[in-house]
Amino acid sequence: MRFSELGLDLRFEKQLQHQGINEPTEIQAHAIPTALAGHDVFAQSKTGSGKTLAFLLPAVQRVMKQKALSKRDPRVLIVAPTRELANQVFSQCRLLIAGTAMTATKVLGGENFNDQVKALRKNPHFVIGTPGRITDHLEQQSLHLAGLELLIFDEADRMLDLGFDKQLNAINSQADHRLRQTMLFSATLEHAQVEITAKALLKSPKKILLSGSN
Ligand code: ADP
Ligand code: MG
Repeated sequence: MRFSELGLDLRFEKQLQHQGINEPTEIQAHAIPTALAGHDVFAQSKTGSGKTLAFLLPAVQRVMKQKALSKRDPRVLIVAPTRELANQVFSQCRLLIAGTAMTATKVLGGENFNDQVKALRKNPHFVIGTPGRITDHLEQQSLHLAGLELLIFDEADRMLDLGFDKQLNAINSQADHRLRQTMLFSATLEHAQVEITAKALLKSPKKILLSGSN
């Protein structure tokens, strides 16, 4: 199976080859076409199975190919549990948008707030952050989600373990539901709360639940 057979532009296939990534993993093969078709997605697969590209590739393709709904607000917001995980998503996103007009910024706890405000004022297409700091920016109105097209919750089980359910709901409620596609990724379903949260955040999601645990 090739990445281009999943509906992705050939440029991604070539770019990934340079990273030594030649074939989609199982979660990528299922999630990418579903995401490109515009469905909400509830996906679970074990750690190391390639969930980051499963949501980043359709997100980047959407921003690249479709007209923006808003000139000002971010088009894609990715929420990740920890600074380390958010940094990994950010690095992979930067690789995918290198050499294009697309821009990304990160809003992580423990880093200078005002520098993040300045970066957000430049209207990046992608914002990647941790739940607490994203909600701080929403409260300070330095981040607006009315024009958001894609909202992605990465490692949702971990975010719930860390007690971020209130922040996830706050982020969800600030984004316009008419314009928006939502995806939730989790490594496990051990936590009953993962399915309850998925139900609250997603609209008629396509479920992609792969067996195997961590
Ligand atoms: P997860 O979020 O499911 O734990 P990651 O997205 O962090 O997994 O990916 C784990 C590792 O696998 C990363 O180093 C990533 O670059 C690599 N990887 C992702 N997709 C592929 C692929 N299709 N083929 C080979 N390696 C891949
Ligand atoms: Mg991950």
